[in-house]
Amino acid sequence: MFFLPRQAFHRSPLPKMSAAIPEAFRGRRYNAYNDWAKERYGGRLQKISVDAGFTCPNRDGLLGFGGCSFCNNEGFSPSYLKGLRDIGEQIDTGVEFARRRYPRARAFLAYFQRYSNTYATVEKLKKAYGEALIHTDIAGLVIGTRPDCLPDETLDYLAGLSRRVFVELEIGIESCEDAVLKECLRGHDFSCTRDAFTRAARRGLFLTGHLLIGLPLETRESLIRGAEALASLPADALKFHQLQIVRNTRLAKRYLAAPESFRLPDMESYLDSVIDIVERLPPNVKIQRLGSEVPPDVLASPDWGMRLDKFPPLFEERLRARNTWQGRLYAVEERRVPEKGR
Ligand code: SF4
Repeated sequence: MFFLPRQAFHRSPLPKMSAAIPEAFRGRRYNAYNDWAKERYGGRLQKISVDAGFTCPNRDGLLGFGGCSFCNNEGFSPSYLKGLRDIGEQIDTGVEFARRRYPRARAFLAYFQRYSNTYATVEKLKKAYGEALIHTDIAGLVIGTRPDCLPDETLDYLAGLSRRVFVELEIGIESCEDAVLKECLRGHDFSCTRDAFTRAARRGLFLTGHLLIGLPLETRESLIRGAEALASLPADALKFHQLQIVRNTRLAKRYLAAPESFRLPDMESYLDSVIDIVERLPPNVKIQRLGSEVPPDVLASPDWGMRLDKFPPLFEERLRARNTWQGRLYAVEERRVPEKGR
């Protein structure tokens, strides 16, 4: 067993703005997370999904029942998790699968992905994460959650843990526009997101934000306003997903009743939206994901038929066609607040 070294890697040597494509992008037009991981750790960091049985305040009644309008966690969970409750067994199965698919993976990270994985007492979190960390193949943790499930006590615990092992905290932003968040029944606003990022960054945690492009009420103007807001968040990485309408969600119910009332992005306009955001981001924010794949049998909206590995080359091609790059429109002055906690 080995653990990845503690993560004192936030302060990137990359410039805060880029009048030309930074050399540190390693021949690309954006800062790819996988390239960074390869350089820093010698290879791919492969996530192994784990279901620890957590729920979500937007489902258990604390904030609401039924969840965000787009949410059906079945759409995002690997089939190998079905029926397995023991975390060690889930990791055994996931690692076996990942070794076949990604033979050059450098390290495996337990990915607490389903629902809100900090929505429990610190004692319960310690138990769940501990069960993953004692597995001999696991070198660190990735923890997905909502911004309103990060009280100071939890962040203090995660900060302590991150001094011993790799911990990446993945926070669902989805949109920076309050009207969009309200429409999709998210149950929190963007100031909640900003507050969570600020408090987590002060503790030195590695922070990834998760964004959904194409939600109802989102427009090109709101995405650009959102990009300005994102540029001021202390995020280390971002993940982009296209909105796909998944069966058994509130959105699917509305979509199936009146598909003509939805304006879903096609591939080209989706990539353009991501570019509109990325060219306004600081160059040192790593782009971890550029799209998503949902099993066709749970998809209600049209299937693009795109495998995950096709997004990066298409994105690169589109950046080249628009002659732009990450950070090209990022403002000159230092705007990222607050400074990381070490
Ligand atoms: S998307 Fe996340 S926050 Fe929303 S209902 Fe699903 S698990 Fe809960």
